[in-house]
Amino acid sequence: CGITACIGADDSVGSLVEGLRRLEYRGYDSAGIAVKNQTGISMTKRVGEVSELVAAVEKNPIAGSYGIGHTRWATHGGVTDGNAHPHTDEAGRVAVVHNGIISNYQSLRSDLESKGHSFSSETDTEVVPHLIEENLRAGATPEEAFRAAIGCLSGSYAIAAIIDDEEAIYATRSGSPLVLGVGDGEYFLASDVPAFIQHTQNVVYLHDGDFVVTRSDGYTITDSAGRSVDRPVEHIEWDP
Ligand code: GLU
Repeated sequence: CGITACIGADDSVGSLVEGLRRLEYRGYDSAGIAVKNQTGISMTKRVGEVSELVAAVEKNPIAGSYGIGHTRWATHGGVTDGNAHPHTDEAGRVAVVHNGIISNYQSLRSDLESKGHSFSSETDTEVVPHLIEENLRAGATPEEAFRAAIGCLSGSYAIAAIIDDEEAIYATRSGSPLVLGVGDGEYFLASDVPAFIQHTQNVVYLHDGDFVVTRSDGYTITDSAGRSVDRPVEHIEWDP
């Protein structure tokens, strides 16, 4: 299973899909991407190999200037197109990819359902976009909404999200891998370095509890309290 994300890249759909291909060695049962464009968030997801996703995107092209991608190894909910990631809220303002397990999702889900949220998948992951939306409705900024949602989770996760019209990728990890690729005006997030090594060899290894906000002109890394944390950019030698 794996996560990819990119912002500032020339061809976001191509970069996301290429990244997923390079994470195939991690194993998966379905794959999907979501990208942001002028009309909103466009998403394609399919059971099967990344090549099935590529065929679906070639048939019905989607475009966007930044986005997130995922290969899923199902833990909660069957292997179906609907359970594949990304997952969204009902309004389509938020898209989320997740590796790992959210162990308290049942109580979060019933709480959200009692507040009027309706779920469309069987996954543990889907609570995350709904939690973000709930916080947006309450007046939080996208970053505040993301932080508050993550604060509700128990379990292990690497998560990346795109939210509303804010041109940014929000990401965090706790118990699942996530690395940041620092390119020249382009930034990548992934479960492992091979996903973006053809774009940049400058890598930040994130720690559990780190929050990253990446925009096309830079990134910030903070802890759960919002304090800035210093993580070195390492230049790695790698034969792509
Ligand atoms: N628990 C999530 C699911 O079953 C994510 C699985 C994964 O790590 O790919 O959808």
